[in-house]
Amino acid sequence: MVKQPIITVKNLVKNYGDFAAVKGISFEVYDGEIFGLLGPNGAGKTTTLEIIETLREKTSGEVTVDGLSIENDADKIKQRIGVQLQAAGYYPNLNLSELIKLFCGLYGIDKTPAEMLEKVALTDKAKSKYKDLSGGQKQRFSIATTLINNPKIIFLDEPTTGLDPQARRNLWDLIREIRDSGTTVVITTHYMDEAEELCDRVAFVDGGHIVGIDTPNHFIDQLVATGFERKKQVKLANLEDVFINLTGKEWREG
Ligand code: ATP
Repeated sequence: MVKQPIITVKNLVKNYGDFAAVKGISFEVYDGEIFGLLGPNGAGKTTTLEIIETLREKTSGEVTVDGLSIENDADKIKQRIGVQLQAAGYYPNLNLSELIKLFCGLYGIDKTPAEMLEKVALTDKAKSKYKDLSGGQKQRFSIATTLINNPKIIFLDEPTTGLDPQARRNLWDLIREIRDSGTTVVITTHYMDEAEELCDRVAFVDGGHIVGIDTPNHFIDQLVATGFERKKQVKLANLEDVFINLTGKEWREG
């Protein structure tokens, strides 16, 4: 299958005053993949995402999203993408059902809260307020809000930070379902195990540069081919596996 780029970034530069946060990066995201931007704090991941989302001005370079230029077609791009809001964006006195109705109204889209909440396994929380949800439920709800306008691409900035192992795995399943239903997913994460498990391709960002871009398996195979060996013998399971095994992996959050 030929891979079609849905996002193209060429020589993107972002300076904040004298400080260069993004130093001429180029990459493509393919239609239908889960693409991960990985790297340490301050690498420039969020800045890059926000420029692609048309929420932040670039200094120079070219970015197209679904064939549209961020300079000329920002409004059209906004209609075709889904972006997670910061938690502060959710009115505290509305329940989930009311919040979804509000978003549908803003987008002018005719969807029922029930169908959106079902997609993210929050049907039984329809009458709960956002602030009363667990960390994993909050993330699932915020992903539901990104899907309201039937986006071609959704952007998830560190969606699993601070979640417990079960909630993380549930979120991975949800993100895979979204990809399998045809939506491209661009995600940032600090968790390398997550990127390895979830992402079809990853780009490592460091100090405003892309230092590598490939599939996780290819990256690992190439490293192993150089004769690299881990210092410690690799165990067949880890403590997280023990935790999941002891506590189960069903949808269950306190
Ligand atoms: P993190 O993983 O911590 O979110 P990141 O890779 O997303 O990091 P960015 O948030 O893109 O990194 O920040 C890149 C660099 O740009 C950092 O050094 C940050 O301090 C700086 N920066 C980000 N936003 C601004 C701003 N509005 N003004 C000045 N500097 C900024």
